[in-house]
Formats: sequence, structure tokens, C-alpha cells
Amino acid sequence: MAFNPLNWLLGLFSLDIGIDLGTANTLVNVRGKGIVINEPSWVAIEKKTRRPLAIGAEAKAMVGRTSSNVLAVRPLRDGVISEFDITEAMLEYFIGKAHEQSIVPVPRPRVVVGVPKGATEVEKRAVYDACMSAGAREAYLIDEPTAAALGANLPISEVPGTMIIDIGGGTTELAIFSMGDTVMSRSMRIAGDEMDVDIVNYVRSKYNLLIGERMAEAVKISMGSAYPLKEEQITTVRGRNLVSGLPEAVEISSVELREALANSVRTIIDMAKDVLDETPPEIVSDLMEMGVCLAGGGSQLQGLDERLSSDLRMRAWVAEDPMTCVARGAGLVLEDLDENRRYLTGLERTRG
Ligand code: ADP
Ligand code: MG
Repeated sequence: MAFNPLNWLLGLFSLDIGIDLGTANTLVNVRGKGIVINEPSWVAIEKKTRRPLAIGAEAKAMVGRTSSNVLAVRPLRDGVISEFDITEAMLEYFIGKAHEQSIVPVPRPRVVVGVPKGATEVEKRAVYDACMSAGAREAYLIDEPTAAALGANLPISEVPGTMIIDIGGGTTELAIFSMGDTVMSRSMRIAGDEMDVDIVNYVRSKYNLLIGERMAEAVKISMGSAYPLKEEQITTVRGRNLVSGLPEAVEISSVELREALANSVRTIIDMAKDVLDETPPEIVSDLMEMGVCLAGGGSQLQGLDERLSSDLRMRAWVAEDPMTCVARGAGLVLEDLDENRRYLTGLERTRG
């Protein structure tokens, strides 16, 4: 985003925070500063007491290496808050960290947090309460697709329809907007994590090789695709041979990886087709002109934009800096709260 001197100045005396509490990554955007925190949504807890021992990158590094009394968890894995106390600890830690970074003493922050479109009242309440107990002065919630669209600079308040697909780790969320309202939306639990599992399963059934999810994610990012590549590639994956039990390395091509990912990619495309099928024709015609914007880490899968363009018969493009859209969009709301209040979702009450 362009440097805005007014925002910078206001940022010196107040603390306005936009948070993307993602299933895979948590990002914090501070007004006037931009993204100040970008860490994995992981918490390491002591098994017996459930006391948090490490949060963020430090906790993720412990995954697979923890001792018997330490457990590394992703409290938002499925896009819902399965473990409230852990989520709360994570939010407190990140809000506190953003607060600490202020040069001059500032009042307690105002916070806008993105929540999945499908979040229940109980889950929303949990996020709200966590923000307040983490020391927020005011806390507001916004649907993630709306925040993503704002962060991607989509003209969602205008009459012509606009569409976003946010592909994260745990969930894919799709929304169509017109005149500031969400006209259609859909959420599904097939996204980046599922693609990693696809690769693990493919390699296991084809080569009898068990690889870790992290190795799968790494090859997905470096060589996975949804559309034929200009130059297909080959890489090596390492794991344990399930027959011999010994370590083994196998060569795998980008063509095979595409085959492994095909089901998940098709499921995402089918969801978009279903939604378009139910969308009023006037809006479909707007979308044919405007296209569909992709956000979230999973949208960076090579060739996904081309694949969607060809299957949906409308231009699909990846937003600029797609992994930070939700945090930036949530942060934008506080720049003019009166004007943007209509984008917020339930429980937008303040303390006192
Ligand atoms: P969330 O909002 O759920 O926290 P993110 O938007 O941070 O999720 O996206 C995380 C997902 O994006 C992970 O599954 C990760 O593997 C995937 N991802 C990140 N970069 C790429 C890439 N270049 N290609 C494919 N997938 C990617
Ligand atoms: Mg997300």
C-alpha cells in the first residue's frame, strides 16, 4: 500500500489493528505501519495443564519434535475455534506484541478481526471476548471474504457485482458482493491443507513412500500446479518406504503432482460453478466483465488463475499480496469506522 502521512501520524497516537486470525497464519496490520506480525497460527501447550508454552513461529518449529508432555496445536485448523482458551492466548499474545511496538505510549487498541463467514454466534462471541480480554478498547468483527475483498481493493460497495475466492489453509471461502452487501457466499473445508494430504496420499499409494505433510507442502509450493506448466519439472521427495521401513528418496514430476491435486482443485472449481449457477443473471454478467479475484495463500498455486479462467469462462486473477488481504482489509475498516460500519458483522459492540 502507498505510504499515507496522515495514517502514519494518527498511528503515532492511537493503535488501530486489523487481524487475520487464519487457520494457517495469523497476521496483524497496524494503521500507519502495515503488516507487523505474520506468524503461523500454532500454539504449543503443556499437555497436562494445557498451559501455552510457545506461540506462533516458535510453536510451529516444535511440531513433530515435541516431547511427550508438549503438544503443538492449530486451534483454528478447520476454520472454527475448536479450542477457545488456546485461541484466546494466541490473540492476547499477538495484540500485546503489536501494542508493545508503539514508540510512544498509546491507549488500548481498537481491533477489527476477520472471522470465517460461517462462524457461529458462539464462535464470534469467543473471538470478541478474546480481543476484549486481550486488552482491546473496542473490538469489531468482519467476515473474512469481506475483509479480503476490501484488502484486494475490490469495489464491493458499488452496484456491479464483484467476486472473491479466498483459499486458505483449512477453508476456501467464496463471496459475491453488490452495493456493499454479500449477495452469495459459500465456505468449504477443502483448501491448502487438503492439497498437502492429497500429495501424501498420492506418493504413498503410487510409491509406497510415506512423506511428511511439511515435505508435501514444500513440493506443492515449489512445483504444484492446476494447469499445464510451460516447462514441466522433476523433484525429489524423501520419506520412509512402507515395505522396507527404510528411508528412501523418489523422483516425482510436476505432472504427477498436478494429478495428485486434481480432485481438490476440481472441488474448488465446482463450488464456484455451483454458486454462479445460483447467482442472479445480472450479477453474472457483471462478473463476466469484472472477473473473479483470488486471495489467500492457496490462490498462489501455479496455474490456478488460468485454470479458473478457462473453466469459469471469466477472467480470474490473483490479488496483489494475496496472503495479507484479510489483515489489510480489516485494518482499512478503522480508517473510517462510521463509513465502514456496514461491512462489520454481529457483536460489533464496544466495551462500556
Ligand atoms: P489461512 O488464511 O487459512 O491462515 P493462508 O491464506 O495463510 O491461510 O494460506 C495458507 C495456505 O496457503 C497453506 O496451505 C500453504 O501451503 C498455501 N500456500 C502458500 N503459498 C503457496 C503457493 N505458492 N502455492 C500453493 N499454496 C501455497
Ligand atoms: Mg485466510
